[in-house]
Amino acid sequence: MASYRIGIAFFYHESHTFSPVRTTLDDFIQEGYHKGEKILAAYTGTKTEVGGFIDVVREKGGTLVPLLCAAAIPSGPVTRETYEVIRSQMLDAIEQAGEMDGLLLALHGAMVVEGVTDPEVEMLAAIREKVGESLPIATTLDMHANLGRRILDFTPLHFGFKTYPHVDMYEQGCKAATMLYRQLDGGTRFYASFVKLRALLPSLNMRTAEGPMHDLVELAKKQEQDPDIGGASIFGGFPYADIPEAGASVLVVGTDQEKTRKTARFLAQQVWENRERFVIALPKVRDALQSALQIQADKPIALADISDNPLSGGTGDTTELLREMIALDLENALFGALYDEESLQACMEAAAGATIRLSLGGKLSPEFGPPVEVDAKIMALTNGVFTNKGPMNTGLLVDTNGAAHIRAGGLDILLTGRALSANDPELFRHIGIEPTTKRILGLKVKNHFRAAFDPLVSQVIYVDAPGLASNDFTHFAYKQIPRPIWPLDEIDGGFMEEG
Ligand SMILES: [Zn+2]
Repeated sequence: MASYRIGIAFFYHESHTFSPVRTTLDDFIQEGYHKGEKILAAYTGTKTEVGGFIDVVREKGGTLVPLLCAAAIPSGPVTRETYEVIRSQMLDAIEQAGEMDGLLLALHGAMVVEGVTDPEVEMLAAIREKVGESLPIATTLDMHANLGRRILDFTPLHFGFKTYPHVDMYEQGCKAATMLYRQLDGGTRFYASFVKLRALLPSLNMRTAEGPMHDLVELAKKQEQDPDIGGASIFGGFPYADIPEAGASVLVVGTDQEKTRKTARFLAQQVWENRERFVIALPKVRDALQSALQIQADKPIALADISDNPLSGGTGDTTELLREMIALDLENALFGALYDEESLQACMEAAAGATIRLSLGGKLSPEFGPPVEVDAKIMALTNGVFTNKGPMNTGLLVDTNGAAHIRAGGLDILLTGRALSANDPELFRHIGIEPTTKRILGLKVKNHFRAAFDPLVSQVIYVDAPGLASNDFTHFAYKQIPRPIWPLDEIDGGFMEEG
């Protein structure tokens, strides 16, 4: 077997176009920005797509050519300037890498850049131009990718996550790499078929443990048992992006063109027929808290403020759930994480043990509720650096840009120096808060946190608070999404684009 030189790169962001925040180079640097050999140090042994690329290439005796990794956590659109920098560094890295035999790219698929609605495709086009027509390229994509048919113009090899919470990033990384090797070693010719649906699916009920996405993913896996089908991916899409590519889609990779086409059509039809199952109504915050207080349980009850989930583009600083938790004067409760640089700074200046007056949250998107005034005792302060120990992104180093544990009455509150979802209990544990000892948890999360928290809590209650990631799409003033589109419009046929 030949020893191939395989380039690896990572270009990743989920952009909420209604967010007032802009994603800059600093956000990428804070989350994951690595060049060359540093990529191997950052991702070897991690359960990420890049971790999967690395393992397969090494196992096959190939030579890794680490190019550029740039990933930021979901927020507003990426600035044009940031994108230009990443793009030119990516192309430079490819230029300097010299001759390569293949390229593995971990993409998200729901990135939006100021003035560019499909930057992954634009990046792929630029890369393709640089490396020439024949270099095999394989990508991984997030389940929430907003895709258009054009992505097939540059390579047929695209593989989406099959789990939500995304705990199969590593497996899909391995799969993309394995398929790339099939093309390299055996000269296998792959085809891909794509169907775009006129459907904006809410992601709240998109978990793959149960419900409609579970059933759809099971169907996709069944198709993959056919040796002619290399991958069948269902993309739920990311509905908080006001772009022409928004919405659900299906992409099937295989060695039999006709079969990939039929399979993609079949799966897309199943998505369309199951669309209503994705919609669920949620209780208001006060009602949810009242019902949580009625529940007798030996484990905490988690209230999930999905509308401000930072991983869905929430600013991480809305206050309705916090305000109601304080108003109820709860005993033994925990709220977090609240992104509030100003209050965190005030805590850092006052030091642990002090009691200070703080005006919490409500700064980035005050339209969803004003700050909450509290007198709080500073319990502990950290630099906010810890390692994920839960099942998602296990082993990845996280930096919250500082953290403060404060207490107001019977409520423990975690403040952080940037917005991030409470997906790993280590976020709380690293500063000395044990979430399992609490009666009620108020968390800025959606679904990913369940990978780690389901075993720790007795129940999860999703609440309807105001925020950028509201489950109700009628709150958003869409201008660029394709119309008609379900559920905003009445339509008969769900297929928009095929290829
Ligand atoms: Zn996702």
